[in-house]
Amino acid sequence: MNVKVWGCRGSIAAPGQKTVRYGGETTCIELTSDTGQKIVIDAGTGIRKLGHELLKDKTVTSINLLFTHSHWDHLVGFPFFLPAYLPDFSIVICGGPTAQQSVLKYLTHQMEPPYFPVAFSTLKARFEMGCLCTREFCDHILPGHDTSMMCYSLPLNHPDGGYGFKFSGIDKTFVFMTDNEVRYHHEAGLPRKAYLDFSSNADLLFHDAQYTEGEYDRTYSWGHSTFKDAVDFAMEAGVKRLGLFHHDPDRSDEDLDHQVDWCREYILKAGSPLECFGCAEGMDLKV
Ligand SMILES: [Zn+2]
Ligand SMILES: [Zn+2]
Repeated sequence: MNVKVWGCRGSIAAPGQKTVRYGGETTCIELTSDTGQKIVIDAGTGIRKLGHELLKDKTVTSINLLFTHSHWDHLVGFPFFLPAYLPDFSIVICGGPTAQQSVLKYLTHQMEPPYFPVAFSTLKARFEMGCLCTREFCDHILPGHDTSMMCYSLPLNHPDGGYGFKFSGIDKTFVFMTDNEVRYHHEAGLPRKAYLDFSSNADLLFHDAQYTEGEYDRTYSWGHSTFKDAVDFAMEAGVKRLGLFHHDPDRSDEDLDHQVDWCREYILKAGSPLECFGCAEGMDLKV
């Protein structure tokens, strides 16, 4: 499978000269399965440019659109996703188990007056709700896919809940867990072991790493992890490659470079084979 980053900034878009390399768009990931099908995770501001790209490829007429949760930075790009305006495009929405109706409600709500001038009901694409199972740990085949791409989900440890997703291709695994706070227990959160089991031996993990240890004194319990916590977690889970995700909007490229260097040194000292990098807009990774 292929994983492309269209947005990896957390909380709010952060364009400008200081964020050119890692990018300022909020969460949006494009996953292409080995059979060429598209899965999009989250509709942060990054989904706008992805929409333009999808329209260039006339063979793509349907996507699965998965949502980790409904915080603004993960929904706000949706009204600017042009394929949603086309009658010959079909979008299967999945908000994780038990969250189907709420995701649809919030997508609709953010396009109601006085927030937005165009109503959700004017969108011409065919919308379907996928992932109708109600189990906390969901495993299923996404619509249009076969068993060569399984999708699993588990509840995030984040204010207002949400879901992390795991995608298993024929012999490779990608885990996406943003907006997950490793060190604090939120209401919907699970014990650490559940997250370790979920991510165990993943070929690629994108994990929330918004804060430094110093910043975390102030941001403890806000729903995000530190660089150190993300790295410790990935090493303990035996992950092969870790992409640091959900960059703080005030984190400059230069600062992020320093944090990535710090993580690599920390991993080296621990004697772990984990590979670590900072996710950046435009990154296209083969898993
Ligand atoms: Zn977020
Ligand atoms: Zn969030």
